[in-house]
Amino acid sequence: MWEKYPLRDRYDVVIIGAGVHGLSTAYYLAKQGVTNVAVIDKGYVGGGASGRNTAIIRANYLTPEGIPFFRESLRLYEDLSIELDFNLLFDQSGRLDLGHTDSAVFGLRMRTGMNRLLGVDSRMIGPAEIKELMPAIDLRKGKHLPVLAALYQSSAGVIRHDAVVWGYGRGADRLGVEIHPFTEVTGIVRAGGRVTGVVVGDRTVHADTVMSATAGWSSNIARMVDLKLPIVTHPLQAFVTEPLKPFIDRSVSSANLHVYVYQTDRGEVVVGGGVDPYSSYSQRSTLHTLEELAANTLELFPFLRGVNVMRQWAGLCDMSPDYAPILGEVDGLPGFMLSCGWGTWGFKAGPIAGFTMAELIATGKTPDLIKPFNLRRFGEGKLVNERAAAPAAAVH
Ligand SMILES: Cc1cc2nc3c(=O)[nH]c(=O)nc-3n(C[C@H](O)[C@H](O)[C@H](O)COP(=O)(O)OP(=O)(O)OC[C@H]3O[C@@H](n4cnc5c(N)ncnc54)[C@H](O)[C@@H]3O)c2cc1C
Repeated sequence: MWEKYPLRDRYDVVIIGAGVHGLSTAYYLAKQGVTNVAVIDKGYVGGGASGRNTAIIRANYLTPEGIPFFRESLRLYEDLSIELDFNLLFDQSGRLDLGHTDSAVFGLRMRTGMNRLLGVDSRMIGPAEIKELMPAIDLRKGKHLPVLAALYQSSAGVIRHDAVVWGYGRGADRLGVEIHPFTEVTGIVRAGGRVTGVVVGDRTVHADTVMSATAGWSSNIARMVDLKLPIVTHPLQAFVTEPLKPFIDRSVSSANLHVYVYQTDRGEVVVGGGVDPYSSYSQRSTLHTLEELAANTLELFPFLRGVNVMRQWAGLCDMSPDYAPILGEVDGLPGFMLSCGWGTWGFKAGPIAGFTMAELIATGKTPDLIKPFNLRRFGEGKLVNERAAAPAAAVH
């Protein structure tokens, strides 16, 4: 998939983190002609959240900043298999966000209105159409949380997450980028008021630009340049069941029940929820979360009772205060770029974040699409509040 190279002493750009964000940025940089690039990861390629997520791609966000950003990412995903010459198994089968209370339905209506104004194919549907799209869902009356309505985005879908990472990796490699797995960055070097490289073991690797794309580990990297990020790392868990006959062919999410569910092409049922309530760097799954997710799934699909769970896992999420990403060069630290704050929602942003960050690094100009996501917004009080649109966000 990619060549092995000895690590050199100098690159134009060093990217820390070989997840979807590091690799997509490297790929689009190389496409812009910046090929003297190294992507460095302390583990294996895609071993962070990029290889652990539930691979849901959608654009039905809330804010005028977030919607166009995620809409453009979805558009890039639509052509990505051809672009990367790699089958990413992108299945645009749609997604339902359920509303079980008046206030939840009000929130979904706001999102739908904003989506439609900004070119995303969302619409509100009632129980009859929900049942038509998802006959297996339990809509019986008299339940503790009845299903009142749903936001339906028909172009949302699910992709093969590993394939996206491998596709970007192979694409970047073919264009001349070096990928260095199992290589840990332990320090960042500064000289003359700017960042000039990274420390790897007992060596310094020099670079004009260093970008951190380390998601759950972003705070640790930022500390290397004495920067305190407004990010808290939380584990996020998911599980899959044994394969079953097809019973749903689109994903469904409930913020009130703190759960989302879909069925893979192999028949396994994938279940995810909100982040664990504590901050941790542990990537171990827990029985408590499994029980909670399973119980909430049964509210929607009671017939799954007794089905065996095959695997459960956890990944790290870099939660930002406003549930929006942090992108761009850090003020007062020329040469140091951040792509973080990806929380529980960042996989779907891989293509557009890589595309725009590459443009920024190559040209020095920040693309309009990512201007609202700079780090200084927290000091200026200009938050981009996407919390209402985060998956199963109401948990904590
Ligand atoms: C269970 C789960 C479900 C999710 N579901 C979805 C979903 O359905 N849809 C969605 O859009 N998003 C989802 N997400 C979120 C998404 O996975 C992440 O936001 C995204 O993958 C982040 O990508 P990244 O490239 O920034 O980071 P990562 O993929 O985490 O990569 C960061 C890399 O940095 C490396 N690194 C860290 N420190 C160092 C160092 N010192 N030196 C060198 N390398 C270092 C790590 O080894 C790692 O490989 C989910 C996350 C989880 C955990």
